[in-house]
Amino acid sequence: MTFFRPLSLILSLATPLHAESEQELLKLPLRVHLVTGVNMIREFTSEKGKVYKTVMNTPLTVKSTQPIMDQVNDIWAPSGIEWVTDPAQGGGGIVSEKAGGGKLSKERLDKLATLVVNRSREIRGRHMELVFPALADPANNESIKDDGRFASKKPEMYHLYLFPYVGQTLQGTAHCPGTFAIVGAFSDKRPNEKGHPKRRPDLIPGKGKLALSARNFPEAGALSATIAHELGHNLSLVHKADDMEDNLMKGHVKIRLSPRQTAKARKQALKGALIGKKDRSKVD
Ligand SMILES: [Zn+2]
Repeated sequence: MTFFRPLSLILSLATPLHAESEQELLKLPLRVHLVTGVNMIREFTSEKGKVYKTVMNTPLTVKSTQPIMDQVNDIWAPSGIEWVTDPAQGGGGIVSEKAGGGKLSKERLDKLATLVVNRSREIRGRHMELVFPALADPANNESIKDDGRFASKKPEMYHLYLFPYVGQTLQGTAHCPGTFAIVGAFSDKRPNEKGHPKRRPDLIPGKGKLALSARNFPEAGALSATIAHELGHNLSLVHKADDMEDNLMKGHVKIRLSPRQTAKARKQALKGALIGKKDRSKVD
């Protein structure tokens, strides 16, 4: 938490009345779901009539996802927010699960996968209500019912889903605010070619926290940065750069939050699931 302290100091000077609460590390319980058992097939026909086909499944494992989540926490550390996946620490774990809990017919599974692959910036549909939750395993998410719809009860933790793909030139999506976020391991967003999805880099390269700089940021983005961005939406942040070229919530290089965004995210975090939650009724 070496990043956390200097920023807390700045915040406490700026907002002396809230210094105590600003300095507190907020631990948010998160379950990361690696969705397997569904192939997403993107077919693309060139102007010359040649058909290109990319078959995508989830290439991530529990082991390869752990360092990604560590980097997500490096990005969030300056805000005094930690996403906790370790069940021993109160987190929800990183779990590999079959799409739809393995209970969907092949026809239904193929139909849902096709809806995802056809999703685009122009045709978004009701994927966040009807498609992505239906591809989740309800046994691993207390906020999703057996019919693949959201339950009305209050979620006990945040849920991040890593799918093979989330739609054409798209990389992620999330409830804002909420506890449901989706990120795709493959992307055909620039600099990749539309219609030709490729695996995205998992991490901002380099060792240690110094790796998180605009200079090191990969041209093709990084899953860690997209995940951190989508979790920002869960904590009510919208697309605003706040005059920062490397703002997490806007633009290509996604690594930093402004003091305003930090305060907003922390305020939202205090309203939802927290590890070690005491009586928060007096905190607004
Ligand atoms: Zn976004």
